[in-house]
Amino acid sequence: MDALETAVVIVGGGVAGRAAGLFTARNGLETIVLDDGSSLLRRNAHLENYPGLPGGINARVLLERMTEQAVDAGCQFETATVETLERTADGFLATTAADDRYQAETAILATKNEVGYLDSMPDVEIVDRGKSYVATDNRGRTALDGLYAAGRLAGKPHQTIVAAGHGSEVAITLLEDRAEPFYHDWVAPAGYFTGRGRDVPPGCEEIDEPERLDREREGRKRRERLLDAHSSPPPEQHPSVDQ
Ligand SMILES: Cc1cc2nc3c(=O)[nH]c(=O)nc-3n(C[C@H](O)[C@H](O)[C@H](O)COP(=O)(O)OP(=O)(O)OC[C@H]3O[C@@H](n4cnc5c(N)ncnc54)[C@H](O)[C@@H]3O)c2cc1C
Repeated sequence: MDALETAVVIVGGGVAGRAAGLFTARNGLETIVLDDGSSLLRRNAHLENYPGLPGGINARVLLERMTEQAVDAGCQFETATVETLERTADGFLATTAADDRYQAETAILATKNEVGYLDSMPDVEIVDRGKSYVATDNRGRTALDGLYAAGRLAGKPHQTIVAAGHGSEVAITLLEDRAEPFYHDWVAPAGYFTGRGRDVPPGCEEIDEPERLDREREGRKRRERLLDAHSSPPPEQHPSVDQ
């Protein structure tokens, strides 16, 4: 079967991968996240240190919100285990356990400490510190052009907000490296740029007051619906604990 072609493939859609997919998709890049569904965050009992959520949140609900937000932006999610990632003339080819193939111009790796699928790319430096990590520069670039690593896999501290922030930063690095027209991913009040005689820069948007109120109402409704739908999905236990 022919490989499905995309601009960006994200291997691993936990916290860092979902955040990266939000940013690449919001900025117009066709993005597919391949994830086998075992984000470490699913094991959290109550997430109390994600800024902006006083009182904490059910971590499974947060993950679902992150997916919904990225899908809204146009990001595609597939449940899949990536078995191999190879360098090709046009970028990177990911092959899944079900033998589905995804050909991407660029790839972001966000698989926590899982690196077995990288065996055929010896140029990607793996750092072994008891667990495996992918070596990157300070913006998440690996030694291969177009290949990035984010979150825990890139050796970032083991906190949800850090993984989300790093996934976002790596996605923006990718946009910059591709020379995509991009200034900041900002929503600004009407006139913020144009009121000073400037064009609205690429990646930015100006919205007027009625539109702002509409979006705020819609956001509130969506959050309430999600809470109703998922009262309290329980944590997953560590696989070695007897239950
Ligand atoms: C018990 C527990 C409690 C925690 N509590 C907190 C807390 O209170 N506060 C806090 O800030 N942090 C907490 N954390 C830490 C937080 O969960 C992690 O730091 C965060 O999930 C790391 O994000 P990540 O994207 O790097 O990895 P993950 O979120 O683990 O995502 C990695 C993803 O890659 C996928 N994957 C791996 N290999 C493949 C493959 N070959 N093909 C396809 N997909 C693949 C996995 O299925 C997973 O979805 C907790 C962690 C645990 C275990």
